Amino acid sequence: MNTFINSVPRSWRERKYKYRLIGGICKKCNATFYPYRGSCPYCGSDDIEEVNLPKKGRLISYTIIYSPPSEFRLKQPYIVGLIELEDGTRIIAQITDVDVNEVKDGIEVEAVFRRYREQGADGIIEYGIKFRPISD
Ligand SMILES: [Zn+2]
Repeated sequence: MNTFINSVPRSWRERKYKYRLIGGICKKCNATFYPYRGSCPYCGSDDIEEVNLPKKGRLISYTIIYSPPSEFRLKQPYIVGLIELEDGTRIIAQITDVDVNEVKDGIEVEAVFRRYREQGADGIIEYGIKFRPISD
């Protein structure tokens, strides 16, 4: 088994979705969603195209997680928010750069790519998308 040949395109593909805000748009019902997937979560159609989503939006609601699973130990407690992007797409993502006591519904946020979790003793760190408040 040639894992090198097989794994390189796969990691490229994952990185593409991880470092750009690429979602899907359903050609049948026009819904947009994130992350990209091959079938529409709203109508089930598989006529999906990639779309670059706006990186700014508004925090609709949030939950503060006080007891994260161990791989999230980099930062706890942490905030998970429901964000509505400028085009109306809704995303669930971690909210960063704000104190849990200061976060509130309705704040403007923007996408950033941040350390997401650390895996076990080997210390592999994954990076992923988070949202932070837009200052000023
Ligand atoms: Zn659809």
